[in-house]
Order: sequence, then structure tokens, then C-alpha cells
Amino acid sequence: MIYWDHNATTPCAPEVVEAMRRYWNEEYGNPSSSHIMGRRAAVAIKKAREQIGNLIDCHPSEIIFTSGATESNNLLFLGILLTPRSERNQIVVSAIEHKSVLEPARLLKEHGFEVIKLPVSRTGVTDIEAAQNLITEKTLLVSVQAANNELGTLQPIEKLADIAHENGAYFHTDAAQVLGKVPFDVQSVNCDFASFSAHKMYGPKGVGALFVCGGVRRWPWTRPFRGGGQEKGLRPGTSNVPAIVGFGEACRLSKNTMTDNNMYLKNITDEFMYVLQKSVPDVFIINELQNSLPGTMSLLFPGISADVLIANCKTINISKGSACSNGVIGASHVINEVDIEATLRDSVIRISFGVHSRAEDFQDFLDVVKNLKQKVGRSEKSSI
Ligand code: PMP
Repeated sequence: MIYWDHNATTPCAPEVVEAMRRYWNEEYGNPSSSHIMGRRAAVAIKKAREQIGNLIDCHPSEIIFTSGATESNNLLFLGILLTPRSERNQIVVSAIEHKSVLEPARLLKEHGFEVIKLPVSRTGVTDIEAAQNLITEKTLLVSVQAANNELGTLQPIEKLADIAHENGAYFHTDAAQVLGKVPFDVQSVNCDFASFSAHKMYGPKGVGALFVCGGVRRWPWTRPFRGGGQEKGLRPGTSNVPAIVGFGEACRLSKNTMTDNNMYLKNITDEFMYVLQKSVPDVFIINELQNSLPGTMSLLFPGISADVLIANCKTINISKGSACSNGVIGASHVINEVDIEATLRDSVIRISFGVHSRAEDFQDFLDVVKNLKQKVGRSEKSSI
């Protein structure tokens, strides 16, 4: 099988699997227990918190473990929802946020908040001028992703954080797609909150974190979950020790390998673009590759629907957009926001390479595309 869908998820790195191994049935203590096994599990979590803090340049106490970016995003928005209202009742998000931001934002709207969506450029970059006009002293929170999952486009989060802060608002970034892939640290971004998922960066599924600047004592809203005191009461529930250990190891690894991996991904993407554009000249690339996650391409072949192409890729795993929006009929909300002719939107596919992607697999994909193009050509001729 050829797997070109690393923005949906990645395989666990062998080092991650190995680091997690003994926490299943050897060191299985509950980290909240005060006995020896509990204390050892707590030490393992402490180490993971440090590894993550080390990658994103924050204090370990500012990391709140969750089940992933979806939960981290919801935790933030639910906190706002449950807090008594103030004069500031505007929430500003980009129009191409992941559903795990857009849906909680919609919930806030249903409860009386004003939700403003920032438009994006034709290649899917949040419009800074619009942000300057729309973020005001009424804004409570600005939430813009660090990179878009469907297009791979990197977003101008540093500038957006500045605009938010100039207006006295908090800045949150959903960094699920950038952590471990491109340099990201909370000091340079100057964000108040950031969400992460381990499985996008060769870590395990079902674990992630919310970065809270200053830690839980600086959490400005009502705590939406109630239970034991885990994660300083912000995210109670027995800690998922093996997954947290794996997340920590994935962060440690990525810090050491990111530069080399990115060089590899850039080279293989350039090579792919070269052969693709030579073999199928009418391919249309939507994202600007030099301002995107290395290895992510949003593209289309006019006349070939994404569903047909995916169905014909018997040994190649590519996607139509976000795995979380699969089953959605027609183009995704992201594709509908960028500048693509309406008739072409159903053709958009996403290819996201990973460190195991190989140039020798290109031909399989080209064969599928060329085959489909011939069929489209024949049916166009017969209908004349
Ligand atoms: N935000 C972004 C930008 C994502 O790409 C994803 C995963 N597709 C999520 C949030 C949700 O992550 P998870 O499913 O791990 O909670």
C-alpha cells in the first residue's frame, strides 16, 4: 500500500511504539496513585510534559493533556460559553478552520456571541487586512489555525496574535497540523492557547494537548469538565499514560529530525511536481507550495472528479480533503472558500507525503490519472 495521506494521520514511529510499550502492562500504575507504581507513572508523564514543553518552548505546567486537538479546541470554546458574559462578545475565526473550531464557534453563536469569519486569499491564506478591520475592542478571542489541514497553507499567526493583543483579545491557534512538522514555538507566536494532536506527528492517536499560557491558574474562564483533579482540574479523568509517553517521545524525535525530514519532503515534492506537470500538463495546484506544510499538495485534474480518482487509486491512499469531513457531499467548506471555479471544486484532492513516501511510487499514481484522462477524452469525443 502507498500512503499519501499524512495530514489525516501518520504511522507511529518505531521509537514511539517502543517508548509506550512498557506502560501497557508493566508500568500500568495510575499516575494519581501515591504508591510506587503510581509515582513511576507520574514521573513518565512529567517527562512527556517536559519533552513537549521543550519542543514548543513553554513551561511543562502550561501543557494540559487532552484526547487531541478536537477536545482542546472544544475545551477552550466551552470555557467561554460557560463564563458569565462581558462586553466582549465577539469571536473571530478564519473561514477555513477545522470543524472542531467552527462547530464550537457555531455553538457560541447560538448562545448569543457574535462570530466573525475572516476571509482567505485565493490560495487559502487568512486575509490580514480583513483581520485588522474586523478584530475590535469587542473581540474576546481570535482563533486561527497554524496551517490548514486540507490545503497545507501556513497562516500568518504571529501577525494575527499581534492584532488580537493590540485589541485586548486572547489569541488561540489550532496547531494540530504544524506540531513536529515545521518549527512552532509559543514564544515566537505569542499565543495564549494552542491545540495539538500527537497522531499527526508520528505519535499515537487519541492524545494531544492544550497549551495554556501561564498554566491553569491563568485560565480565564469557567472549567467545563468536573471530576478528579487531573491536569490541575482543567481536564479531569485518568491520564492515558502510554499515549502521553508516546506523544512526548514523538516530540523528542521530531525536534531531532525535523530539519532533515523537511529537506526530504521538499525534495520529493519538487520531484513529484516535475513529473506530474510533465505527464499531466493541465494539473492545477491550489496551494503555494513554498508557503505550505512540506509535502502537502492540494490539486485537481480538470474533468476527473475526486471521488472517481480516489476510487481508482486501488493501492494509493489519497484524500479529498479532511478525513474528518469524509462523507460530506460536494466540496468541503475549505475548498468553497478558495478561488476555484465552481465546476472544478469536486475534483480537488489532497496528497500529503510523509517521511516514508518514495519517488518510485509516483508512476502508479500517474498511470491511474492518465488512464482516467483517456477515458474522459473518449467520452467527450463520443458526446460531440
Ligand atoms: N485541527 C486540525 C487542523 C486538524 O487537522 C485536525 C485533524 N484532522 C484536528 C484539529 C482534529 O484532531 P483530532 O482528530 O486528533 O482531535
